[in-house]
Amino acid sequence: MITESQRQPQTAVTRLTIDSGDYYLGLVKEGQTLRLVDLEGNQAADTLFYNANDPSERYSLSDTLLAQQALYLTTGSRLMSNLQHEMLVIVADTCGRHDTLGGACATESNGVRYDLEKRCMHACRDSWMLAINEHPQLGLSKRDIGHNINFFMNVPVTPDGGLSFADGISAPGKYVEMTAKMDVLVLISNCPQLNNPCNGYNPTPIELLVWDAS
Ligand SMILES: [Zn+2]
Repeated sequence: MITESQRQPQTAVTRLTIDSGDYYLGLVKEGQTLRLVDLEGNQAADTLFYNANDPSERYSLSDTLLAQQALYLTTGSRLMSNLQHEMLVIVADTCGRHDTLGGACATESNGVRYDLEKRCMHACRDSWMLAINEHPQLGLSKRDIGHNINFFMNVPVTPDGGLSFADGISAPGKYVEMTAKMDVLVLISNCPQLNNPCNGYNPTPIELLVWDAS
């Protein structure tokens, strides 16, 4: 559901750009609101959330779909943890829907899906692994890389229950905004994928903004 936000960028307490192929790992506190902006359109922001006080509690695809009884994420979606707690709620969305079924790109899937020689190409899973290795104080490891959300990505479910990676429905300046219901660690890989249309074969930057509770 398309819903615009009244929040103004100039009142944000954090405002930064994540280049394609880079990661962001940061804290969003309970009550704060996070906005991701698809600056140039057709990008994919592969995102994981953790309870900042106990990262073994994390975003859960299955609990989220069960809670909302719908396959795609948009305004009103409650992003649930593996302990069935609300982590964040989407409060504004000018894109319309976001994927949480397609998973993230990895060197293994690049090799299987496209060509063995694509195996060496940079993938989202590499960016997540780099992030957790560069932040050892958080205690995250490979086993904490679970299901993710692909903000702005279009992965329609076909009538026979399959998934298809389709051209994006996002466009320059579209955004999604969510309010944290607990202190959350946000881990984003701004997708570097060049083999499928998830980012228009042209990875581009994402903007991240955070507002304090109003
Ligand atoms: Zn990716």
